[in-house]
Amino acid sequence: MPRKTDRSRAVFAEAQKYLPGGVNSPVRSFRGVGGDPVVIASGSGCRLTDIDGNVYIDYCGSWGPLILGHAAPEVIEAVREAAGRGLSYGAATEAEVELARLVCDSVPSIEMVRFVNSGTEATMSALRLARAFTGRSKIVKFEGCYHGHADGLLVQAGSGVATLSLPDSAGVPPSYAAETLVVPYNDVAALETLFQQRGAEIAAVIVEPVAANMGVVPPAPGFLERLRDLTSNAGSLLVFDEVITGFRVGLGGYQALCGVMPDLTCLGKIVGGGMPVGAYGGRSEIMQMVAPLGPVYQAGTLSGNPLAMAAGLATLRALSDPGFYEALSAKAERLMSGLKAAARQAGTPLQVNRVGSMLTAFFTDGPVTDYASAKRSDTASHARFFHALLDHGVYFPPSQFEAAFISAAHEESDIEATILAFHDAFGIA
Ligand SMILES: *Cc1c(COP(=O)(O)O)cnc(C)c1O
Repeated sequence: MPRKTDRSRAVFAEAQKYLPGGVNSPVRSFRGVGGDPVVIASGSGCRLTDIDGNVYIDYCGSWGPLILGHAAPEVIEAVREAAGRGLSYGAATEAEVELARLVCDSVPSIEMVRFVNSGTEATMSALRLARAFTGRSKIVKFEGCYHGHADGLLVQAGSGVATLSLPDSAGVPPSYAAETLVVPYNDVAALETLFQQRGAEIAAVIVEPVAANMGVVPPAPGFLERLRDLTSNAGSLLVFDEVITGFRVGLGGYQALCGVMPDLTCLGKIVGGGMPVGAYGGRSEIMQMVAPLGPVYQAGTLSGNPLAMAAGLATLRALSDPGFYEALSAKAERLMSGLKAAARQAGTPLQVNRVGSMLTAFFTDGPVTDYASAKRSDTASHARFFHALLDHGVYFPPSQFEAAFISAAHEESDIEATILAFHDAFGIA
């Protein structure tokens, strides 16, 4: 079923003259799946329309933020209304206080919060704060976890980096990278050894409590609990990077589900409702070290931007509707079972990892519990599946190592239509 792609191709050819790789963020370029990217004209509900007029049921959701779907009327209305009062003041507003209160009331370990403009800024700032608070330098991260593109965090960082098969980034001084220690995800023994040897040097451990940037990989039972014990005993801070899981798995993030409380939490994506927002927060005692109260400098001309705060507020308010997350999970469960059944019928080895409304279908026959097992996936089969889905009107994230997201705008009929597309994509129509 060939789609019309003339206009997308023409615009993308032009894009490559002016933007490196034709994009402003690498995974958008389809390098992980081959072929030309689709150029988007508009989004509405669970659907994307490209500039050739093709319509897709979207499971990328702008990589996580759009839990209410595209152009959710309450979010658009709030932004429109805020825009009428000016785009930015560089001064305090009521909206940022309301959103801060909502974040502090929702996420159990956050007593105070600072808004920034991206998830990258959130993790970068949280780690600066952790270093200041502990007076130590070393940061521990896990293989395959992504925490944005700050220098010291681009070490074995999954996702975009995994897709492009870059071992890490050029331009990061070895001396910066040396401040970051890397351990396999879910590997408690490696973590214990590291803490025995170097615990006193470790300012913080940063972790995605559910990894979602090597594809979705849930924490093994006891992993986060052990991490909490080890960091507490060593006087290190535990930083949960909930940029994806925050407001995705529940209003309180994954910490509210697992009961393990980090010292600092990073947020992004959903908290901005599709606008560029990140946030970091935690215990007041730690947050009071941030300027102007304390010696840790961190600032932003557009931080707490009124349009972004309006989009975040409108989004978060919709999430507290009773049964919101249960309904989302039920649809994701149905999508997963349809996907597994189609793969089984086709005889294609497939491992589907799902947590709430996010899932990844790994083209491999063994369980995926860490970066090494994720990397065993057959990316060529994934790429064929991805393109077949596109031809059948379904837009999955263009990489084996990303999460697909279900939004409130996906109706049951959309899920069933997608399952039919799975059958077509596996050639078992
Ligand atoms: C997306 C993401 C980031 C980076 O956020 P940006 O807004 O892209 O800078 C950080 N951590 C995690 C877990 C993410 O998924």
